[in-house]
Formats: sequence, C-alpha cells, structure tokens
Amino acid sequence: MPFDIVCFDCDSTLSRIEGIDELARSCHVFAEVAALTDAAMNGEVALEDVYAKRLDVIKPNQHAISQLADQYIDEIVEGVTEVFAALLAANKQVHIISGGLRQAILPLATRLNIPASQVHAVDIFFDVNGDYLDFDRQSPLAQSGGKAAVCRQINPSAALNMVLVGDGKTDLEAQHAGATVIGFGGVVRRDLVEAQADQFFADPSLLAVLPVLLQADSN
Ligand SMILES: [Mg+2]
Repeated sequence: MPFDIVCFDCDSTLSRIEGIDELARSCHVFAEVAALTDAAMNGEVALEDVYAKRLDVIKPNQHAISQLADQYIDEIVEGVTEVFAALLAANKQVHIISGGLRQAILPLATRLNIPASQVHAVDIFFDVNGDYLDFDRQSPLAQSGGKAAVCRQINPSAALNMVLVGDGKTDLEAQHAGATVIGFGGVVRRDLVEAQADQFFADPSLLAVLPVLLQADSN
C-alpha cells in the first residue's frame, strides 16, 4: 500500500546542521551543548532532560534564530528540494516533525512549499526587545515520545499509511504510532537507528529514499 502521509525530521535529515548546536556555537557554548544533543540522539539520555538545559545555557535571541533560519537553508541536504517537489506532485501529505525551534525551521519549510500548519516543532518566545524568554514547555516535541504523539495527532487511529524519515533516536518513536520509519544516515550515521529503523539509507542524497516513499504507487 502506498504511503499517504510522509513526514521528515529536520536536523541532520533535511539540513546538515543540528540547529541547537549552531545556536550554541554562535553563543560560544558549543562543546557543552553538542555533547548533550548527541547523547539524546544516541538514546543515552532522555530528550526532556537536555531540552531546557540547552536553552537555558544558550538563551538565543530573535536575531540568532533568524541567522539559524538562514543556515538551515544554506546547509540543505542534497536532493531535498527534488524529493519534496516529487512528493507534492504525487499528492502526498508532507509534514516536518522536529524537536528544533519552529521559528527557525519555517523559512526552510516555506522554501519547500510546506505550509506552516504542517510544520511541527517547538515554539520559542521573546520579550519586546527580541531577547530570549522561554520555549513552549508544553510541546510534546521537547520530550521523548513526542514524535509519536505528533504522528497520532496528524493521523488519528493510524487510519492512513504514514512514513517518517529521520536520523535520530527520537525519530524511531514514530513506530509506536504505527508509522514506518526510514533511517537516513546521509549526514550522521547512528548504529541504533540503523539497527531499529524499518529501512536505512546512508547515501548522502535524500533522493536515495524517494523510491521507497513513492513505493507501490505504480503497483
Ligand atoms: Mg535529526
């Protein structure tokens, strides 16, 4: 059966960067934050244990977020534009599901013709001067299990066939919501994801995954 809904992780899947690490780099706290991110993506610590900690260290302002939005686009993974165009042409419902910061990801989504309503990520709040206030602590995506929760919102009762493409431990959670998970190791190759994903691709281009996303349409 063909997939009706195709979801993508963002960081290290659509773009070569890990957004939170880039924010940390610009705030000169890179080593501390990157170690936390990598531990979470390898499944060594729970996402909720590092999420607040990272942002409390970085405190990104509005300017830093708009710079990050540019970086997401500059570092786009090979083949992403073509994959999105092909999926939209095939009338797939396409979503981006990310534990990253929503305002930084929206411009990339717009570039790929994905409406804001199909971008699921964590909101960040600023004060009137554009300085960091807080993030959406209620967002399921700032916690482990969040990607499964969002998959269930998008596809209640798993009525439609759904697939998620991603590089990390949190992406595997979509399996709990009945989604097929395709591991993408074109940016970062993680043993845990290679072992547990339904299929795994290590090609540097996302185009390698496209035949699977469109599979069975021709059957
Ligand atoms: Mg990722």
